[in-house]
Amino acid sequence: MGSWATGVTVVTCLGPHGPHGMTANAFLSVSLEPPLVLVSIGQENDSHAIISASQRFAVSILAASQQHLSVHFAQRFKDSGQALAAVAWSLSPSGLPWIDGAVGHLECAVEGIFTAQDHTLFLGRVLHLDGPTDASPLVYFRSRYTTTG
Ligand SMILES: Cc1cc2nc3c(=O)[nH]c(=O)nc-3n(C[C@H](O)[C@H](O)[C@H](O)COP(=O)(O)OP(=O)(O)OC[C@H]3O[C@@H](n4cnc5c(N)ncnc54)[C@H](O)[C@@H]3O)c2cc1C
Repeated sequence: MGSWATGVTVVTCLGPHGPHGMTANAFLSVSLEPPLVLVSIGQENDSHAIISASQRFAVSILAASQQHLSVHFAQRFKDSGQALAAVAWSLSPSGLPWIDGAVGHLECAVEGIFTAQDHTLFLGRVLHLDGPTDASPLVYFRSRYTTTG
């Protein structure tokens, strides 16, 4: 699967300890009418528990200049409330975190949950969109970051 080049997103959510986020590249467009997207999230992750409870998530599609944010949001935090503490972010229309400077943003309400062994596929109905900007996207390929130039 490392040979499948992807963009990189930060999936954010709002939990009991505040806003939280994690790096995710298992993200895809599912349908246009209605607009549906899918994210695949490990069941051990804090984000999994938060999205399962809140039934909401947002997606920020990272720009080429945001590799450090991909690394940041791929680490484990002692307290999920720390994840966005040192990161510039804004509120989406319904109050979820959107990472500033991203190529584009979505916010979603969970419309379907599909268990897939140790991951869960969250199908989200897109409630609001923002972007795209002119920035180049961050690309992930064979465990390395690259860009489209
Ligand atoms: C480019 C890229 C793409 C990625 N794409 C995805 C993706 O699409 N889906 C996905 O699920 N992940 C993905 N990841 C990994 C994900 O970003 C990290 O696992 C992240 O830490 C999850 O954040 P979290 O706060 O939700 O989970 P955390 O609570 O930080 O848990 C993360 C991991 O730590 C383990 N863990 C939790 N507590 C402990 C403990 N006490 N001791 C030991 N281990 C523990 C969990 O089993 C889990 O696997 C990606 C990472 C990168 C770099």
